[in-house]
Amino acid sequence: MLPYSTAVEAQAALGRPLTFLETLWLQHTANRSDYFLYCLNIVYLFVNFTVLPLPTVILDVLKVRAFERFKLQPGVHTTISDALRCYKSVIWSFCTVVGPLQLLSYPMVKMLGFRTSLPLPSCGEIVSQLAVYFLIEDYGNYWIHRWLHCGWGYKNIHYLHHEFTAPMSFAAPYAHWAEILVLGIPSFVGPALVPGHMVTLWLWIALRHIEAMETHSGYDFPWSFTKFIPFYGGAEYHDYHHFVGGKSQSNFASVFTYCDYLYGTDKGYRYQKSLMKITKNKLGEETGGWVGDSCDKKSS
Ligand SMILES: [Zn+2]
Ligand SMILES: [Zn+2]
Repeated sequence: MLPYSTAVEAQAALGRPLTFLETLWLQHTANRSDYFLYCLNIVYLFVNFTVLPLPTVILDVLKVRAFERFKLQPGVHTTISDALRCYKSVIWSFCTVVGPLQLLSYPMVKMLGFRTSLPLPSCGEIVSQLAVYFLIEDYGNYWIHRWLHCGWGYKNIHYLHHEFTAPMSFAAPYAHWAEILVLGIPSFVGPALVPGHMVTLWLWIALRHIEAMETHSGYDFPWSFTKFIPFYGGAEYHDYHHFVGGKSQSNFASVFTYCDYLYGTDKGYRYQKSLMKITKNKLGEETGGWVGDSCDKKSS
């Protein structure tokens, strides 16, 4: 809990006037326990899971023609019943795995030293910590995801996430409970190594989920700001991984492309891209989706 409940007290403690954001934070957190603030993240996550996927899921279900040219697998659309079934499963996992995990992990977050007090972290601190979190999570996720594509891991756990060969945003957290738990580990390694402010932790969890929803959206929008992030995989990169399914030996990384490049697990994807380029050069038009005979599809 903050050691002050009014702006006057906070300003006296800091020795300067509060910024606009610090005033908002004080209004939001005054007289609230740190545990309550941490648990608020469950509410934010629920909104994330429910509201953010809606725009692309609606485009997909309604087969909106104006956006069909941005569809990574044109002509392949989610049905309303599949979207609802997926959402129900995601919310069930949220209530039985994600939510309880949040509630129970507080002592660890407290022990690591996450703070809720003023001053708020600077933009530089937030951005540099988020960059570390993303890089660590991406590296850990790469190896766990690669393991999940080995026989036992795929057959017993990861098969569920690959049920959607043409994914949609609701399908980003659609996974076996064991996968949610095991892939959650690298998400917490970064914050454990470089703890910061609660705002940074909230942002980290929210941005990680927003990123996953974008990469599962089934749409590749040229105006997405993520196009400007170096080595960022994006929707096309992960859509290919779902298109191939269980046999996929490409594109295991969750966020960036460098791990797949370094460890040679982007060969199927690059072959696929070259096939599409050849088709475009021959026909003078896009292929309209992935080509069926990629080397990933042929391998077993
Ligand atoms: Zn996979
Ligand atoms: Zn996926």
